[in-house]
Amino acid sequence: MALIHCAACSKKISNRAGVCPHCGFSISDDPEKQEQAARIRAIHMQQQLMNHSFVALLLFVGGFAIWWWGGEPSDGWRKTVGIGSMALGFGMYLITRIRIVLNKRGR
Ligand SMILES: [Zn+2]
Repeated sequence: MALIHCAACSKKISNRAGVCPHCGFSISDDPEKQEQAARIRAIHMQQQLMNHSFVALLLFVGGFAIWWWGGEPSDGWRKTVGIGSMALGFGMYLITRIRIVLNKRGR
């Protein structure tokens, strides 16, 4: 018996197990199927990260638009909401960039 990594969730499982106890992925000895599952997982992860960076960019641009509407910085709630949204978007974008780099390095 040996420990292998589940092709779907990467957790350690016995190579005798028919189904991964962590995620329910059925284990097969077919390396092509395992390769395919790993590829799908990587694509899903990438798409999720792309969506996150898109939302972050929208938050940033939207915040700037709220704050700067009419060609000059505004005061009051628009300043609060605008700068808050910009800061949130910027932070989220940075975190997503770091996760993209880590995700690429993991393979
Ligand atoms: Zn699994």
